[in-house]
Amino acid sequence: IIKIENLVKRFGKLEVLKGVNLEVRKQEAIVIIGPSGGGKSTLLRCINKLEEYQGGKIYLDGVDIDSYDVNKLRTRIGMVFQQFNLFPHMNVLDNLILAPTKVKNMPREEAVEKAKQLLKRVGLSDKIEAYPEQLSGGQKQRVAIARALMMDPEIMLFDEPTSALDPELVGEVLDVMKDLAKSGMTMLVVTHEMGFARDVADRIIFISDGVVEEEGTPDEVLKNPKKQRTREFLKRIL
Ligand code: ATP
Ligand code: MG
Repeated sequence: IIKIENLVKRFGKLEVLKGVNLEVRKQEAIVIIGPSGGGKSTLLRCINKLEEYQGGKIYLDGVDIDSYDVNKLRTRIGMVFQQFNLFPHMNVLDNLILAPTKVKNMPREEAVEKAKQLLKRVGLSDKIEAYPEQLSGGQKQRVAIARALMMDPEIMLFDEPTSALDPELVGEVLDVMKDLAKSGMTMLVVTHEMGFARDVADRIIFISDGVVEEEGTPDEVLKNPKKQRTREFLKRIL
């Protein structure tokens, strides 16, 4: 569903992505790991057109994303960040229905109905009228996931969705993501949660210094890493 060919991204003189190649199949859950500064966030941001890139191509269903309108692309690819980015002056319901009513011209009633279903799915039916400041970090992140799902994306990108959370709140967010993967959502997840990677990932991609150093099943990458760099990284985080 996504094909990335030789992607090169520079910030000024700094080359952050040095020819990334990656294919994502439909319904695949991919976990991206790697050292800080290696280019994981930048890669996700390029896929969603939050960053321009200087070389290479990204295809969505065989079509170069260059030729996609940004808003249209982002209805197909949802993204959840480390910081929840909810609108603080809007309650949960309004946060959820904003984009579909504005961008997709969904009738308000239909959006409200959909919001209720999704809040139920993430276990927050009782918070529909709450404001973000009244929610815990884990609840905010689950609202952020529900908000992304309002657009019926075909692909979800997660950039360290649990790393800003207190440890006891991490599980509730990972559970929602696990369900999503089980439901067949195509997912690209940057995370340091190795338990999640082991249990949920169809494939793990190790990105270091702007290239895909290694990829494979969780068993291959976590138990039998081929590259020295992967071994060193895993030794530090496991
Ligand atoms: P982390 O695990 O810390 O989140 P990462 O793998 O996500 O790291 P990126 O955020 O993609 O890494 O950053 C890769 C490199 O690009 C880093 O050296 C970073 O300093 C640099 N970089 C990222 N964003 C910008 C920017 N807007 N301007 C300049 N340099 C940037
Ligand atoms: Mg990052």
